[in-house]
Amino acid sequence: MDLDLTAEDLAFRDEVRAFLDAALTPELREAGRRMTSVFCDKKYSLPWQRILHAKGWVAPSWPREYGGTGWNETQRAIFSAECVRAGAPGLAPMGLRMVGPVIMRYGTPEQKAHYLPRILSGEDYWCQGYSEPGSGSDLASLQLRATSDGDHYVLNGSKIWTTHAHWANRMFCLVRTSTEGKPQAGITFLLLDMGTPGIKVDPIITLAGEHEVNQVFFDNVRVPVSGRVGEENAGWTVAKYLLEFERGGGSAAGMKVALERLRNLARQETSDQGGPLIEDPAFRAKLAGAGVALDAIEMTEHRVLAALASGNAPGPASSMLKTQGTELMQRLDEIALEGLAHYGAVQQIEARAPGSNQPFIGPEHGLTTTARYLNDRAASIYGGSNEIQRDIMARLVLGL
Ligand SMILES: Cc1cc2nc3c(=O)[nH]c(=O)nc-3n(C[C@H](O)[C@H](O)[C@H](O)COP(=O)(O)OP(=O)(O)OC[C@H]3O[C@@H](n4cnc5c(N)ncnc54)[C@H](O)[C@@H]3O)c2cc1C
Repeated sequence: MDLDLTAEDLAFRDEVRAFLDAALTPELREAGRRMTSVFCDKKYSLPWQRILHAKGWVAPSWPREYGGTGWNETQRAIFSAECVRAGAPGLAPMGLRMVGPVIMRYGTPEQKAHYLPRILSGEDYWCQGYSEPGSGSDLASLQLRATSDGDHYVLNGSKIWTTHAHWANRMFCLVRTSTEGKPQAGITFLLLDMGTPGIKVDPIITLAGEHEVNQVFFDNVRVPVSGRVGEENAGWTVAKYLLEFERGGGSAAGMKVALERLRNLARQETSDQGGPLIEDPAFRAKLAGAGVALDAIEMTEHRVLAALASGNAPGPASSMLKTQGTELMQRLDEIALEGLAHYGAVQQIEARAPGSNQPFIGPEHGLTTTARYLNDRAASIYGGSNEIQRDIMARLVLGL
């Protein structure tokens, strides 16, 4: 990929900028700025998704036949960077980035025709039912039982850490359909309606005081067999394919904005020695180190995007991106807290909400820095912990 923008690329960037300028309301921009994790409140992400859908720009990485934009890799990179720069709220990834590509690859013609347009429009809001109590890293040990009953499966058990299950009307999940043979060989991939009787969603409140994740209980929940993706007991292959998309990133643009914000902060704040923080050699070294790591991540991200563009799953590069990306994200959070000093300690949950007129002290991003720091601790755990990613890379890349 040529990283120098051509005249055409620059014209495309101007077109994107003009659209974002016009389409992003002040409220949506504020919601984007005040995100405290990689997930945005549905109240803001959904209206933004609808605006992008109306424009035809909601799924740049999807093939054109399913509603993608037909942009090349450079155009997609420009679009995602411009969205972040403009402060657009993030879109929920569970439909567009996770189950969408799975349905395209493994779904029946009926499933594609039914679900893909609803993912694009946001009519269906998805959550991911993979993890269970005791089955996270060791996902293949999952126990949620699905018993065959005519043209239905009957589900009993529980899923945990289910992001946005309280807002979702759909779940894609892994269920146990057989206890014979290897644990991986008895798993099936199902799509289900969260409104089905017998489903109960209990909140789990994070250290930052927020409701993002849940535990979901299933008590004799009847799911039509038509919701199965792939064959019975062949869900492990489908599940792994999805995880490559979950791990493949889109984070460098966001971290660039965060780093730029940090540089500005360091120009304004005072160091312990009394001068501007940006002149403190130790602080400067941290910013420079983060900048170098960010360049490397951006290049890896281009490789993953190139794989996606050519219709391939990103493979082990997604594990590398996940590990490096989340660790840098956490490093930036730590530098931000250090730079903010006492402002970082102020936790005003009410003042954080977009549109709030609660007063706060210090720079605006002081409102979200502590919450981000706490929530981003989870980034090296979710999507498969970084220790597990290192195992994958050791096996698939180094052949160990
Ligand atoms: C904020 C958040 C959101 C999430 N959202 C979702 C969601 O929407 N849907 C969903 O299905 N899941 C979700 N998860 C769950 C997530 O995928 C799991 O937490 C993750 O896979 C780790 O599993 P676990 O929590 O059971 O930890 P464990 O598997 O018990 O791991 C505990 C520790 O042991 C280490 N460890 C475990 N096995 C090994 C090994 N073989 N080698 C080296 N180290 C090892 C791990 O790295 C980790 O540090 C979410 C989690 C969080 C924190």
